[in-house]
Amino acid sequence: MQIEITEFPLDQVLQEVSRNFRMIAEQHGLRLIMRATDVWVRSDRTMLARILNNLVSNALRYTSKGGVLVVARRRCDGTVRLDVWDTGSGIAPEHQARVFDEFYRVECHGTNERDTGARRGLGLGLATVQRLAELLDTQVVLKSHPGRGSVFSFHLPEIPAQVVFDTPAEETPMDVTGMRVLVI
Ligand code: ATP
Ligand code: MG
Repeated sequence: MQIEITEFPLDQVLQEVSRNFRMIAEQHGLRLIMRATDVWVRSDRTMLARILNNLVSNALRYTSKGGVLVVARRRCDGTVRLDVWDTGSGIAPEHQARVFDEFYRVECHGTNERDTGARRGLGLGLATVQRLAELLDTQVVLKSHPGRGSVFSFHLPEIPAQVVFDTPAEETPMDVTGMRVLVI
């Protein structure tokens, strides 16, 4: 898979993910909230969207009441931390390390009615997520409380507050045309 690292506002990706799942969340009476500060990241946009689509899809699928919250926070070490929280079934400690394995599924999810029958997944979503995260030089970490919910977290490099040129700087050394100032 070809990696294409660019710089982009995280907001745009979160909005896209939100659009993909707004209807599903509404249909199931779940809240879906995205919260990002005005922050730009350096990453592969398509892969990041895939990671978030998978995590939000799981979060909604294994949650029967409450909802899902995606938060992006700038940290002082130059990274942005993304957390995908849910108030769902949670994952028991003995399964937590294994849910990232290919084809691994937790068979019993208690009260979640949507995790039944024909809609059963293959157990590939989180394996894909972790593989994509590795390609982006990061790792997805899970914390979960059975019966209360889960949070899947990872970090991305942030673009520090700076002046960014739309065209290569060496081509326009004295020209401010096309220059964009990031206020963050
Ligand atoms: P697929 O994603 O291939 O359609 P899947 O959702 O079963 O199928 P994964 O996304 O890899 O597969 O997840 C593996 C297992 O981890 C799931 O079957 C489920 O038991 C558990 N799981 C994943 N995300 C959550 C979550 N947010 N809350 C509770 N359990 C989860
Ligand atoms: Mg899945």
